[in-house]
Amino acid sequence: MVDRNAVIVGAGIGGLAAAIALHRRGWNITVLERAPALREVGAGISLWPNAIRALDLLGVGDQVREFSTVEGAGGFRDAHGRWLFRSPLRTGYGDTLMLRRPILLDILRSAVPAEAIVLDTTVNEVERTGDQVTVTHDGVRRSADLLVGADGLRSTVRALLWPHAKPPVYAGYTTWRLIAPPLELDSEVSESWGQGERVGIFRLADGAVYSYLVANAPPGSEYADDRAELRHRFGRWHDPIPAMLDSINGSEILRHDIYRLPALRSYVAGRAVLVGDAAHAMTPDLGQGGGTASEDAVELAAALNEDGNVDHGLQVYDRRRRRRTQAIARQSAAFGTFAQASGRLTVPLRNTAARLLPERLFLRANHATLTWRSTS
Ligand SMILES: Cc1cc2nc3c(=O)[nH]c(=O)nc-3n(C[C@H](O)[C@H](O)[C@H](O)COP(=O)(O)OP(=O)(O)OC[C@H]3O[C@@H](n4cnc5c(N)ncnc54)[C@H](O)[C@@H]3O)c2cc1C
Repeated sequence: MVDRNAVIVGAGIGGLAAAIALHRRGWNITVLERAPALREVGAGISLWPNAIRALDLLGVGDQVREFSTVEGAGGFRDAHGRWLFRSPLRTGYGDTLMLRRPILLDILRSAVPAEAIVLDTTVNEVERTGDQVTVTHDGVRRSADLLVGADGLRSTVRALLWPHAKPPVYAGYTTWRLIAPPLELDSEVSESWGQGERVGIFRLADGAVYSYLVANAPPGSEYADDRAELRHRFGRWHDPIPAMLDSINGSEILRHDIYRLPALRSYVAGRAVLVGDAAHAMTPDLGQGGGTASEDAVELAAALNEDGNVDHGLQVYDRRRRRRTQAIARQSAAFGTFAQASGRLTVPLRNTAARLLPERLFLRANHATLTWRSTS
């Protein structure tokens, strides 16, 4: 395919992955990014086997492996550290990797021609005219054969071209993420569950520790001192959580209220298409937002390549991606609700259910997600 132009709005995981995938299929691409620099600090990201397969197809899997730790077997514990559920899942489908987000973004960015990325510019208008889409960013108008909305949870592209889309819904909990100094960790990875609270701790390739800490809270809650709040909430949990919290004085802490996007009826509007969080922002409970965004990119480029007809390719993409990503989003939200149980009755019920959960049921629930392979 020659002389096809795509404008991609957003240079997060979804936008950069789409840029790589389309560029590899011969598209001329321009990525428009609002941020003045591509920098995401303070957090790690887990990439499940489906995500790794997508990154391999984008040609960056080996670089990602080089900077990652492989997560071992693991499961869920209670706040005292007692196992509720243990599974070898992480080793059954291929590796699950953990790495620093800025490294992932750097790897993706370096696979996109530097001149294709325009930083510090905000798209604020989109017009559809026949076979073209025109975006306006800071007064500059730019037309293309394809517009990829990869602009995240609060997507401008979605707001302008999907006027009937429902707004994101608050999931009921907020999440702190941080990277702590090196610490002795158990070889089995686990997420620990309390009453409406959760903690995950993972070792990174350079020995530092990535942790997320989750708490039920009204939307928009403010905390005067995040460290004090975390020590107050989690300081008496099992080892090594208190030691980790004692070590974070110099760490940057990110906090985000968690939202999910109600299911869209289509990911395509004329020559505009949504990928990643713009299409299907999901709660992070299954660690699949970045992975499915990478899959979207691979599948979009593959569908567009099938017979060279852009409109047909977009319909194929929509058909292949919507059902899968919306099912994963539903599953993620349901798992989040289960794990965030906070009632005097629901917490023991949840823990008992986790203790009794047959491993094969757990594997079956995750099978379709983890076995994804590109259709072409
Ligand atoms: C707490 C938490 C933990 C998570 N953990 C994991 C995990 O372990 N594994 C995993 O796979 N996923 C995880 N996720 C999900 C993952 O982070 C997201 O799904 C993924 O980053 C989405 O990427 P994206 O490119 O679609 O959107 P974004 O990362 O939101 O990128 C959108 C980009 O668009 C830009 N932009 C927005 N509007 C405009 C505009 N008008 N003009 C120009 N640019 C614009 C933004 O600046 C941004 O750079 C987690 C999410 C959270 C909140």
